Amino acid sequence: MALIVQKYGGTSVGSPERIRDVARRIKRWKMQGHQLVVVVSAMSGETNRLIALAKEVSPNPHPRELDVMVSTGEQVTIALLAMALQDLGIKAKSYTGGQVKVLTDSTFTKARILSIDEHNIRSDLEDDTVVIVAGFQGVDEQGNITTLGRGGSDTSAVALAAALKADECQIYTDVDGVYTTDPRVVPEARKLDRITFEEMLEMASLGSKVLQIRSVEFAGKYKVKLRVLSSFEEEGKETSGTLITVEEDTTMEQPIISGIAFNRDEAKLTVLGVPDRPGIASQILGPISEANIDVDMIIQNVGHDGTTDFSFTVNRGEYARALKILEEQVKPHIGARAIEGDNKICKVSAVGVGMRSHPGVASKMFRVLAEEGINIQMISTSEIKISVVVDEKYLELAVRVLHQAFGLDKAPA
Ligand code: ASP
Ligand code: MG
Repeated sequence: MALIVQKYGGTSVGSPERIRDVARRIKRWKMQGHQLVVVVSAMSGETNRLIALAKEVSPNPHPRELDVMVSTGEQVTIALLAMALQDLGIKAKSYTGGQVKVLTDSTFTKARILSIDEHNIRSDLEDDTVVIVAGFQGVDEQGNITTLGRGGSDTSAVALAAALKADECQIYTDVDGVYTTDPRVVPEARKLDRITFEEMLEMASLGSKVLQIRSVEFAGKYKVKLRVLSSFEEEGKETSGTLITVEEDTTMEQPIISGIAFNRDEAKLTVLGVPDRPGIASQILGPISEANIDVDMIIQNVGHDGTTDFSFTVNRGEYARALKILEEQVKPHIGARAIEGDNKICKVSAVGVGMRSHPGVASKMFRVLAEEGINIQMISTSEIKISVVVDEKYLELAVRVLHQAFGLDKAPA
């Protein structure tokens, strides 16, 4: 008998039929003798609908009130799932985040979990009851309802699994696991049987949207055994998804690269003719960070004649704001020659822990791109990833040729 935390995402509970189907799946796990804590998201589209509704009433809703409102999506699905289970003869009980309670800080719309009270959950589990917990939500010290940021139900599930020391945390979604790249771009993409937390974290922050980044960080930190799997597979035809592990699998020859991630959501800004002296980087990026704009890659060139060029990337949604700040606050202040911007770029990354022990990954990546005539505009590396910024029109081509060059379309030997 194991204690399993399962999470079902929005599409998995997107209709009454889907909810009844999830209930049957939970019943099968229960009949095998396991204890189950189930976290659910709102029905697909519901959180977006609620946010849009709020904005129709008030263009800039107060975050506290927004949380009171958007948390209702999950309150609906926990009750529906409990009803569906009870109809199958399974004891089930639903809890909102506040009822559990999932204590968070007071950062409305992106709160962090501080602690989870196990008391109610443990006693229900003892009583043979399936415990159903609303994802995405918690409550602060003052009793205010909070939410954990978009996609936050993943984090709810992992945090519960960590608090309860569950044997496994299963994230049920509409794909059957984590892939070597997006199969919509490369049809030959393969499902990975396992991937390390570090790789998953890079994949998630580089644009693979299977799991909320925070949930992966959390799982790595608390060593929660995490598995991504599909809730759409028929009974008897279920596969075991992708296991996200703490340890690298040393029994197998490690592939050098585990996946190719990409992100279209990027924009590049360049400050030209910047005086080459101490303090310039902070004078350029200071006002950007004060405006709460996240900067990703940064490049400063070697100076000539006392000036240099300084480039960085931001999320495409922040491009216009960043450009305005550079034009109005930075350029006149530091005496730069001009500001240039490009919001038709993308980032393509090769990720793999195998890079640590295999030199030459970067040079191979650059050669493969060069052979296709793809110009690299920026490069950044970490111990387990190499990212390049290229023109957006080359995105599909770059991902495809890299996926093939690193042998990801073939099953590992
Ligand atoms: N319902 C929330 C959202 O759409 C939380 C989640 O689904 O994980 O972001
Ligand atoms: Mg999600």
